[in-house]
Amino acid sequence: MNRKKTDQKGYFITGTDTEVGKTFVTFALGTFLKGKGFDVGVMKPVQCSGRDAHVLKKGLNIKDPLAMVNPYYAKEPLSPHLAFGRCGQKIDIERIIKIYRMIEGRHEITLVEGAGGLMVPITKDYFMADLIRDLGLEVIIVSRLGLGTINHTLLTIGQARSMGLAVKGIIFNTTQKGKKGIPERTNPKMIEEIGAVPILGVVPFLEKLTSSEVIKKNVSFDLKALFDRRADKTLTWQKWDKQYIWHPFTQMQDWLEEQPLVIKEGKGCYLKDTQGRIYLDGVSSLWVNVHGHRHKRIDEALRAQINKISHSTLLGLANVPSIELAKKLVEVAPQGLEKVFYSDNGSTAVEVAIKIAYQYWFNQGKKKKNKIMHLEDSYHGDTLGGVSVGGIGLFHQIYRPLTFHAIKAPSPYYYRNADQKSLSVYCKEYLKKIERLLRKHHTRLAAFVVEPLVQGAAGMIVWPRGVLKGIAALCKKYDVLLITDEVATGFGRTGKMFACQHEGVRPDLLCLAKGISAGYLPLAATLTTKEVFNGFLYDYKELKTFFHGHTYTGNPLACAAALANLDVFRKEKTLNRLQPKIKFMANELKKFYNLAHVGDIRQKGFMAGIELVKDKRTKTPFPLEQKVGIRVCQETRERGLILRPLGNVIVIMPPLSITEQELKRLLDITYLSIKHVTENESFA
Ligand code: PMP
Repeated sequence: MNRKKTDQKGYFITGTDTEVGKTFVTFALGTFLKGKGFDVGVMKPVQCSGRDAHVLKKGLNIKDPLAMVNPYYAKEPLSPHLAFGRCGQKIDIERIIKIYRMIEGRHEITLVEGAGGLMVPITKDYFMADLIRDLGLEVIIVSRLGLGTINHTLLTIGQARSMGLAVKGIIFNTTQKGKKGIPERTNPKMIEEIGAVPILGVVPFLEKLTSSEVIKKNVSFDLKALFDRRADKTLTWQKWDKQYIWHPFTQMQDWLEEQPLVIKEGKGCYLKDTQGRIYLDGVSSLWVNVHGHRHKRIDEALRAQINKISHSTLLGLANVPSIELAKKLVEVAPQGLEKVFYSDNGSTAVEVAIKIAYQYWFNQGKKKKNKIMHLEDSYHGDTLGGVSVGGIGLFHQIYRPLTFHAIKAPSPYYYRNADQKSLSVYCKEYLKKIERLLRKHHTRLAAFVVEPLVQGAAGMIVWPRGVLKGIAALCKKYDVLLITDEVATGFGRTGKMFACQHEGVRPDLLCLAKGISAGYLPLAATLTTKEVFNGFLYDYKELKTFFHGHTYTGNPLACAAALANLDVFRKEKTLNRLQPKIKFMANELKKFYNLAHVGDIRQKGFMAGIELVKDKRTKTPFPLEQKVGIRVCQETRERGLILRPLGNVIVIMPPLSITEQELKRLLDITYLSIKHVTENESFA
């Protein structure tokens, strides 16, 4: 006998609707499995009228007593919560589970037939889908072949997955006699593709009370797909994720309560999860993706580099991609930045800049210049140097005892600090405050570190025009090195290659990461001037070397991706093509002011933040505990868009390659989601 071993114990058979032939298909599948030599058990936990359990027990020659096969029976053909309510019988879910375990223990494969579809209430607040989850079973969906089935089937697949159920596959039942029309011929392929599910079989039209002999002759199922452990591994991945991974910036107690979304693939501006659901990548996979996922040119550059070498060190050796990239970076960076120091993430790019700035003065004997100035609300990464110059209380305060002392300057947060002043008046007064601080501290200051134009992590605080140029001039005047952290703003995000270029600023040190490799691999660079570089050229014995370097510094693969990134910028004229999209976004964003809880909209290029407030007039923020930002992003996810908020600010930062149509959809979903969440009664 052609009998394969399986460790699969049970399947739950549900339908897209009543009357799609669940019992018949269960019978057919049971007969088929028995024909393959498996010992098959069945269960119909809840039945409202009819003879389904009898048919299955008899047809499949089941020895278990009827009270086990069908523990709950009500006479009326109604939804279980009604049918059992009306006859005064209470359904005990624990008892169903216990009986199922007994049946499962007696057979190799158990088929559990539901009543109606997934969202049929067994009790008032417990649905068929809840029972499936509590039984821990994979779902087989029975669909009717024919017009209208695509919608019903995809809805059922989507609902199952959104409730954390694994869909094993679809079985189509032909419920009408006669020749197959176009829908009948094309339904399975279509659903297989769109729903990303295997089709386990198509049952031809047969008279319902047919014998097992007729079934054996006419019906077959895809055993390989049925027993494929990898077909829908989502539940396993979710379990392992929770078991083994500690996620960044995440309260793991909450995470462990949720079903994580597991991403498996990406293409262009879309991400695909393990269950085949597709989402727009609204924040460029955390502000890194530039030209879309799986860009042909970048993919090819990586493959070509792999065929040469993936890693070789820069400590004592040079390598080709890092040399070529350094040259290209110097060409695209503000003029005067001529030396490139590589590292591998945004935090290290800043650490490097801070250490270089400090040692630059130290090497000249100016040992008092050992402090760094930074802005309130600043974010420069999570390593201790970055945290020392970080100004976001929520992230940084707790680590203060571990960090070095830095001097804090106010940030130009116009929406909250301007007090009705015009932008230009505010800008002037702001620069005066900065000058006062520089005058006071400059003899102790090695550098002033800023995120130029947009303070990203603080909630997309966009600076008034002139602030950056003013800061650069003041740093020069007071002999303080200017470090611009363009980890977030670099590589086109603000509409120019670098934010500094909007105001003709050339910093002393420029920090790059994130988009440098188009969002492919960890890579960072700190660029500086010849003057700073020359400040480290001494006799070896003076020990004025820059003592810093990471293992993967100048990694050839990452550099190859970065070279391809710049190539795409040039060949696809990315920055030119971005300009109309920036305008389109600005126009569309204006509509958001109609929403009752949108306080401020800030945009610079392709970086945007929508600040949600409890009271628009007083600008009173929503308390963080209300998780408004998080809830809006959960809502956008349901609608096919991935966003990640910063507190009460909804961040929009799609890949630069997004089309206007995709951008419109992204903004429409965001608008509806903000409206849905903030205008919901619970916030009244
Ligand atoms: N600087 C800025 C301005 C950033 O936005 C970030 C990350 N969001 C960092 C530094 C830190 O980069 P990474 O997470 O790669 O260490």
